[in-house]
Amino acid sequence: SWSSSDSVISTDSAGETAETGSPYRVVLLGANGVGKTAFASIFAGAADSMDSDECELCGDEMCEKVIEVDGESAAVTLVHALFGDAYLLLYSITDRASFLRASELRIILRHFRPAQHTPIILVGNKCDLVRRREVSVSEGRACAAVFDCKFIETSAAMQHNVWEAFHGIVRQLRLRRDSKEA
Ligand code: GDP
Repeated sequence: SWSSSDSVISTDSAGETAETGSPYRVVLLGANGVGKTAFASIFAGAADSMDSDECELCGDEMCEKVIEVDGESAAVTLVHALFGDAYLLLYSITDRASFLRASELRIILRHFRPAQHTPIILVGNKCDLVRRREVSVSEGRACAAVFDCKFIETSAAMQHNVWEAFHGIVRQLRLRRDSKEA
């Protein structure tokens, strides 16, 4: 079951996508301290406030952001929520326990979303902390292969690959949507 130590932040698209009008709900999931708040801050455009209280994310609605992925824009609101259409499953490459927790969370997700092929990206964050690395790139990649999801290493601190992760999940959602419509 869900542990109280797993905080959850979801990005709830409040706007309508150009093609369908249905919002995407993307959840940031992972152990405490892996970088979910930092991800949400970058997503919300508060990129310079990594360690400030500006992006506390404790209200129902924190901020709104219009993002564009492959030429298609969507208005997005950050909210707390457990359930979503897609998941960015974060761990810290400096924290093996968070990597193991990501695996557990993947299994939990599979159990409560068995029918659908829910888009998930396994995200190894804090890749700037090279000398504190506890989880290798190949371990992350292998885990993602086992769990049948995509994999990316990121650094919220360096703003490296964070947008790629968000854009990647939107692309997966669009692919799934398009295959359903086809
Ligand atoms: P959360 O508990 O998952 O929301 O984690 P936070 O976003 O609050 O991040 C926990 C701590 O790790 C904070 O001190 C962040 O500044 C720091 N942090 C987050 N992402 C990175 C990163 O990519 N690199 C480094 N060096 N620190 C990070």
